[in-house]
Amino acid sequence: MISFTEDRQRFLDGSLSVSQRVEQCLAAIANQAQLNAFLHVDADGVRAAAAASDERYRAGLARPLEGCILAVKDNMSVKGMPMTCASRILEGFMPLYTATAVERLIDAGAVVIGKTNMDEFAMGSSNETSAYGVVRNPHDPSRVPGGSSGGSAVAVAAGLCHASLGSDTGGSIRQPAAFCGVVGFKPTYGVVSRYGLTAFASSLDHVGPFAPTMADAQAVFDVMAGADAMDSTSVPTPEAQPMPPIDGLKVGVLEESYITGCDQDIQDAYAAAIEKLRQMGATIVPVQLQHEQAWVPTYFILATAEASSNLARFDGVRYGKRFESDVDIVTETRSRGFGTEVQRRIMLGTYVLSSGYHDAYYTRAQKARRLIADMYNNVFTQVDVILLPTTPTSAFEIGAKQSDPVAMWLSDYYTVSANIAGIPAVSVPVGTDTAGLPIGLQVQGPVFADAMVLAVAAQV
Ligand code: GLN
Repeated sequence: MISFTEDRQRFLDGSLSVSQRVEQCLAAIANQAQLNAFLHVDADGVRAAAAASDERYRAGLARPLEGCILAVKDNMSVKGMPMTCASRILEGFMPLYTATAVERLIDAGAVVIGKTNMDEFAMGSSNETSAYGVVRNPHDPSRVPGGSSGGSAVAVAAGLCHASLGSDTGGSIRQPAAFCGVVGFKPTYGVVSRYGLTAFASSLDHVGPFAPTMADAQAVFDVMAGADAMDSTSVPTPEAQPMPPIDGLKVGVLEESYITGCDQDIQDAYAAAIEKLRQMGATIVPVQLQHEQAWVPTYFILATAEASSNLARFDGVRYGKRFESDVDIVTETRSRGFGTEVQRRIMLGTYVLSSGYHDAYYTRAQKARRLIADMYNNVFTQVDVILLPTTPTSAFEIGAKQSDPVAMWLSDYYTVSANIAGIPAVSVPVGTDTAGLPIGLQVQGPVFADAMVLAVAAQV
């Protein structure tokens, strides 16, 4: 992996140029093409941007992220680069503008190398639902990288860029970060603008960074964060609170019953991290995160309901590549343009919103959402942060869960509740299991405690 904060010193002292680094990354992308991490590589564009960055270093005009080589998940608009959301229905689509988060990074000096592969419309946990082929885990190419932002996680893990952007609706940044051994951060809802992010479930969607280190993730986050006139749900950057010392920090940990379903190696890593924090002086407080049987069902009802509405625009008439038919263009387009998982979600979402079932499913899920948010508010009166696993298992074999959607959906058990409540959560790599596969642990904190969550995770 290549760290921007380390490279920046080399760029500044002249021992490495941005152009040299870009050439290394382009060569690595070509050498590792079998990982299928990228859907589009903009070699000419990134070379030109790198040359301009080198010029700025020479002139002493380097901006905070000057020469940070950035990969962007293919559900975020970058003007001049195609965007497919890994779907056939958006084949050949060229966005007319750049997402705010990306724009801010470019304005701070980042150079965009390309667009990364993902689960179709960000629906999945394994990157197997992409219309453009599975992404492979660099630690073991027979295994999935996680999803839906698998390409972005792999791009960082395999050293194909400095940092990347993902989107996290129910875990799609943190889960692939854990599977690939990188840092993945989902900020507080609204702190990073969603303008230019293709909506999956608007009330749950978040944009966030992948990076090799916590310092790198923080550097990217700091630049992206803040209110945006183009996203009415965005909020100003939370005021940086002084970080309480680890000594005396109250860290909530899960009682045993919540983690017995995890792989033994993950349970061991969890116990070791708790012990480490205890030795650093943290007060370890066992907490009960209630309604846990409701987390995944609540997420899948709300996410599919919102998706069925958000994806209605892709009909081959207003949006999306048209699949011609003499009878019904819309049906033909949506049947051939969307893959199986997306169609499953649209059908489920339409069902839970339909007049006869709306109260039984959608309204109840909204009530459950309130209970889950209240549960977190209550827990955060007792502790400063919560430490929990990111995933119950390490990266699984390609194909292992494809025939069982419910098993796939349950792999989001530890991540979805943070989206339901909108709280910040980061996955940090803590080592490998006996098979040599990465393990990630997760730190969650109260709304707007983004800086504290990152600082505690850095200690973990
Ligand atoms: N894995 C979850 C899902 O399939 C989360 C996806 C996401 O966060 N975009 O919906």
